[in-house]
Amino acid sequence: MHHDKHHASYVAGANATMERLEEARAAANYAGLVGLEKTLAFNVSGHVLHSMFWKNLTPGGGGRPEGELAAAIDEHFGTFDAFRAQMSQAAVLVQGSGWGALAFEPFAKRLIVEQIYDHQANLAQGAVPLLVFDVWEHAYYLQYRNVRPDFVEALWNLVNWPDVAERFARAQQASLG
Ligand code: MN
Repeated sequence: MHHDKHHASYVAGANATMERLEEARAAANYAGLVGLEKTLAFNVSGHVLHSMFWKNLTPGGGGRPEGELAAAIDEHFGTFDAFRAQMSQAAVLVQGSGWGALAFEPFAKRLIVEQIYDHQANLAQGAVPLLVFDVWEHAYYLQYRNVRPDFVEALWNLVNWPDVAERFARAQQASLG
């Protein structure tokens, strides 16, 4: 349901908004542009985050990262446990709908935790998300009712660390100069 209904609605929304922007350009009518830009950011970001979320999780995941990613987490958060606590709280404490995210900030070349509102707000410009936790109610309400902290705790048992490490390696190629 999460993939086929919720995620799919963001894909449909992004495509529909692109079409309306094309119409606006063709008619040179930008009366609705502010709304369209907001809708575009919301739906594109929803698609991007969900696409990442499915790959970030795997049956039999969990544990801890290894190698360069583990070293970077220690360097930028002190310890893995400190990172884990901050990431969990970033997700749990979202007011309303949003995400917790581990991201690579390419300007300072460091890892940061972000607390994302809806899909697109409260972001550091240019930061590349590596690991994302969906804490919209639609992500957990059927199984966890209103107990978001238990859902977040359970997500740690599914984290696909090799996927996160690969994203970290690719993100480090980016530079904002
Ligand atoms: Mn979702």
